[in-house]
Amino acid sequence: MTKTYLYIILLFEKYYYLRNEGEIVEDLLEGLKEKLKQKGYKLTPQRRATLNIILENQGEHLNTEEIYGLVKERCPEIGLATVYRTLQLLDEMQIISKINLDDGCIRYEFNADGDEHQHHHLICQKCGNIIEVELDLLEHLEEEIETIHDFEIKDHKVKFFGICSMCK
Ligand SMILES: [Zn+2]
Ligand SMILES: [Zn+2]
Ligand SMILES: [Zn+2]
Repeated sequence: MTKTYLYIILLFEKYYYLRNEGEIVEDLLEGLKEKLKQKGYKLTPQRRATLNIILENQGEHLNTEEIYGLVKERCPEIGLATVYRTLQLLDEMQIISKINLDDGCIRYEFNADGDEHQHHHLICQKCGNIIEVELDLLEHLEEEIETIHDFEIKDHKVKFFGICSMCK
């Protein structure tokens, strides 16, 4: 295969990937629009911009100030109070969830699926890096707790503190 061919294929793949990403975000926004409508709220441009920033930065665990800074780049007229209220509303509706990593600020992340258990967070005590563990791995523990305590587990928040691979 010639270099030019390879380059064209790479370009195509990049375009295709980006297009899909955009479509996924649009689909999510459409779903959320409906959810908000059912509760009597509108997907205002400010709310849309706030959600977009969270969706585009999944895995970043942005705090309120960071979200505000990014939203302001797109909606310069937006105030911190509006972003703050939007985050609270989205949290109440379980569209996003609050994460407290014991570093003095409230961070948010998108709730991929309301029924799914939250992933775990590994927090590096040296650089503050936050790593996500996608697997639940707690099924056995959950089963035992549910039996022993007759308690139905809906979700959990697990934080592991330690030293990341970069800091070792
Ligand atoms: Zn996370
Ligand atoms: Zn679980
Ligand atoms: Zn580290």
